[in-house]
Amino acid sequence: MREAWQHFYGTAFWQRRRKLQLHMHPLCRFCAEGGVVTRATHADHVEPHKGDWNLFCLGELQSLCASCHSSRKQLIEARGHDIMVDDDGWPTDPNHPANRRR
Ligand SMILES: [Zn+2]
Repeated sequence: MREAWQHFYGTAFWQRRRKLQLHMHPLCRFCAEGGVVTRATHADHVEPHKGDWNLFCLGELQSLCASCHSSRKQLIEARGHDIMVDDDGWPTDPNHPANRRR
């Protein structure tokens, strides 16, 4: 599905920003958390910008591989939190319900 803000990604600004992100952080962040080294291909907005131009331009980015971008990231956005756990089995995402109760 094409969103109304899809053209943001065609701007020269975004091409530069994406290139810089992948240059500075060439590995997939999600894979790296699991100890796997994967080359990132996507500069992903940590907080979904949902068409907000300021957020699109200034929001924090993370580098992801195609598979993480399409699977885990969408799961996080659908649930509102990540399902990754630390070595003790506790969810690492501060937005996870288990962490919000504390
Ligand atoms: Zn990945």
